[in-house]
Amino acid sequence: MAKKVVRAFCTLLVIIGLFSGCKKFEKQGHLKEPGIVLTFDDNKVDNWVDYLPLLDSAGVKATFYICKYNRFTSEQKNKLSIIQSHGHEIAFHTTNHYNMEDYVYKQKHTIDELMRCEVEAGLKMMNRDGFYPTTFAYPYGAHNGVFDKTLMRYFKSVRALNGTQDFSKSIVPTQNNDVLYGLGIDKSSKRSDADVISVLQSAKNNNTCAVFVAHEINTANKYSVTLERLLKIFSFVKANNLKYYTASQISD
Ligand SMILES: [Zn+2]
Repeated sequence: MAKKVVRAFCTLLVIIGLFSGCKKFEKQGHLKEPGIVLTFDDNKVDNWVDYLPLLDSAGVKATFYICKYNRFTSEQKNKLSIIQSHGHEIAFHTTNHYNMEDYVYKQKHTIDELMRCEVEAGLKMMNRDGFYPTTFAYPYGAHNGVFDKTLMRYFKSVRALNGTQDFSKSIVPTQNNDVLYGLGIDKSSKRSDADVISVLQSAKNNNTCAVFVAHEINTANKYSVTLERLLKIFSFVKANNLKYYTASQISD
């Protein structure tokens, strides 16, 4: 009888062990899935909302860093809420889109003033309407370590721009990021499709995540990503089983 109890107890321990092992594996496997963070900056909701069906059809979950929310019409606020309801992240890109380094070092404002004007004021307005951004992108990518540190009081991560030819700066782990350097994919970036795909390939090979930045989708504006390029990205992502992460997801 005692032997039977011991045997049953041991079997139970083995089952518990296997189960917790599986859970652990699942979690690690999930976190290491290679992926892409597709981000869009500014206030182009009228344009973005038109492309929701395309983003949905490709299973994209993107991150929209919003600025100048104080100038949104109620129709535009509504469009932003529709974008959010499709599973995209609504993030923050300052109140007025000032160059933050100029605001402090040229125009001689304090960092406290900067935070009140360019962060707290805009955030408050968005919060009032049900948007709770947890990640931030710098206008023009203008940043420094002091700003990064100060902004961590409000956000999980900050995103600057990768203005270099060192694409590896835009390929990051799939978790725990605090400063991201997005690689521009608009026409203005002058990067080739091959460059963009090589960054995705590298993320795939290393179980990491590629961070891209665009503004408008498929317009005549030079700060716009072409439809052709987006479709190439979507098809590479699908063929290689990459995961769409939001900025918030890779900042935990
Ligand atoms: Zn911007």
